[in-house]
Amino acid sequence: MAALCRGKHRWRRTNCLYVSTRNLTGKYDYDLVVIGGGSGGLACSKEAAQLGQKVAVLDYVEPTVKGTKWGLGGTCVNVGCIPKKLMHQAALLGAAVKDAKKYGWQITGPVCHDWATMAEAVHNHVRSLNWGHRVQLQDKKVKYLNLKGSLVDKHTVKGLSKAGKETILTAKNVVIASGGRPKCPTNVPGAMEHGITSDDIFWLKKSPGKTLVVGASYVALECAGFLTGVGMDTTVMVRSIALRGFDQQIAGLVTDYMKTYGTKFAWKCVPKRVDKLSSGALQVTWTDTQTGNDHKDTFDSVLWAVGRAPETKALGLDKLGVQLNKETGKIVLGADESTSVPNIYAFGDIGEGRPELTPTAIKAGKLLAQRLAGQTTELMNYDSVATTVFTPLEYGCVGLSEEEAEKRHGKDGIEVYHAFYKPLEFTVAERDASQCYIKVVCERAGDQKILGLHFTGPNAGEVTQGFAMGFQCGATYSHLLQTVGIHPTCAEEVVKVNITKRSGLDATVTGC
Ligand code: FAD
Ligand code: NAP
Repeated sequence: MAALCRGKHRWRRTNCLYVSTRNLTGKYDYDLVVIGGGSGGLACSKEAAQLGQKVAVLDYVEPTVKGTKWGLGGTCVNVGCIPKKLMHQAALLGAAVKDAKKYGWQITGPVCHDWATMAEAVHNHVRSLNWGHRVQLQDKKVKYLNLKGSLVDKHTVKGLSKAGKETILTAKNVVIASGGRPKCPTNVPGAMEHGITSDDIFWLKKSPGKTLVVGASYVALECAGFLTGVGMDTTVMVRSIALRGFDQQIAGLVTDYMKTYGTKFAWKCVPKRVDKLSSGALQVTWTDTQTGNDHKDTFDSVLWAVGRAPETKALGLDKLGVQLNKETGKIVLGADESTSVPNIYAFGDIGEGRPELTPTAIKAGKLLAQRLAGQTTELMNYDSVATTVFTPLEYGCVGLSEEEAEKRHGKDGIEVYHAFYKPLEFTVAERDASQCYIKVVCERAGDQKILGLHFTGPNAGEVTQGFAMGFQCGATYSHLLQTVGIHPTCAEEVVKVNITKRSGLDATVTGC
């Protein structure tokens, strides 16, 4: 191939690669090269381009062991929030159909769910988002490269295509937003060969059937919730507690509700091996850690939801001396998302101590782009980020759990207001509302600043989002009481909480 000459850049040929080198004026191919086109990387690159920076974003998806792969947009769009919420919605609709009969809808014949129809509709939506992201990058003049990126030096990124072709890009600043991928236990024979992860479940064309979900945090409980909701026989294997880090009283309500609606739980159990039987079924052997006894059962699918590992291995960070946390493998970052190497930044799921949530990755990415373009000095505020677990009974929260508030302020330093309420929608439907609960954890002294707000019930994400703003503004218990409710809603119960846990009085809401 002939040597190339493009613009101001000089090109040289090394091992059949065309490499653009920095020109004599010290300029680079790009102001910014972003590795990873997920929630954070896309937001950062688009913002930078809007601010007049010359930007390239590299995004590459390594297929799973099962061969599942997807398009541009990262975890949230393809194998996270979006397909998860849509499948959660499918499950909620199943419950609504049951309620509908009580509301007078004449539904004749059995109501069945067809996985393939749901999957196709979800895939079509995800593909439309993949396309939308490509169009947006084009519109904003961000160069999108479907290449696997790694660092050569602090201003040079190597991109590798699926076919093995290398491209070198130089940039003033490099941003790493390569996210994470699900883990699979290495000490459980058969786990990898026979199991799937959240990177596969949303792309299955056929129903997963009877499923064992191993793990008990966000991903495990959300997946188990929608699987149960669309009619799968589903068991959750919990090795310790559910929803570590969340308010444990509420975690108990969430799992109780799931149990009531058909999810099975194997508490304090750990998987030992997975064998494929001649029938094709998966035989799982596990140990009950309380008794030490082993148990066996067969499943059609085993879903590992045992956490996520950062995507740092292929990035060549060790050669450059980018500091990683040895335990987690995540990149150690300053408050301005800087790594230990100048001109290299990182954020999102790859960042040590950062919440693994889409909105934080997006906001952090936008702010970083603005700072790099000299538009602001504002830093990302990672404090008190609200979140919702989309389990069959949704759980939204912001701030501290009761346990954490007690640890920081002492039992006598906090006042906990709480209420068990019944959503109006549940009444005619004759649904059990025992787990619909509100907890507002406050400082005991002074204005009773709110330290944590927790809500389980329908549309918990929508409810919590509004209160999250109040929380950011430093809301107190008196602010809550000064707020007039919207009737009839579940959210109004939050502004009406008046029973303290300390009083021991019945916290069940009666009347309007
Ligand atoms: P990602 O979105 O993971 O993007 C990283 C991208 O970089 C990927 O496309 C990856 O393939 C690519 N990449 C990796 N290495 C390279 C490389 N060397 N070169 C080029 N490209 C590379 N968060 C919420 O806020 N709400 C939810 O409801 C929610 N639900 C979730 C459900 C599930 C099942 C999971 C797994 C996660 C969920 N999350 C949710 C978390 C959310 O998806 C992540 O926090 C978010 O996607 C992180 O964004 P990111 O930009 O850091 O990384
Ligand atoms: P996680 O929060 O790290 O939880 C991992 C779970 O797996 C824990 O219950 C853990 O139990 C268990 N586990 C780990 N190793 C195990 C093993 N070898 N055997 C059995 N169980 C094991 O991981 P995640 O659920 O994958 O979530 C990752 C992140 O994604 C979350 O932090 C969240 O920020 C994000 N996310 C967000 C949403 C949302 O916003 N709705 C949804 C999904 C994911 P122990 O507690 O005993 O360690």
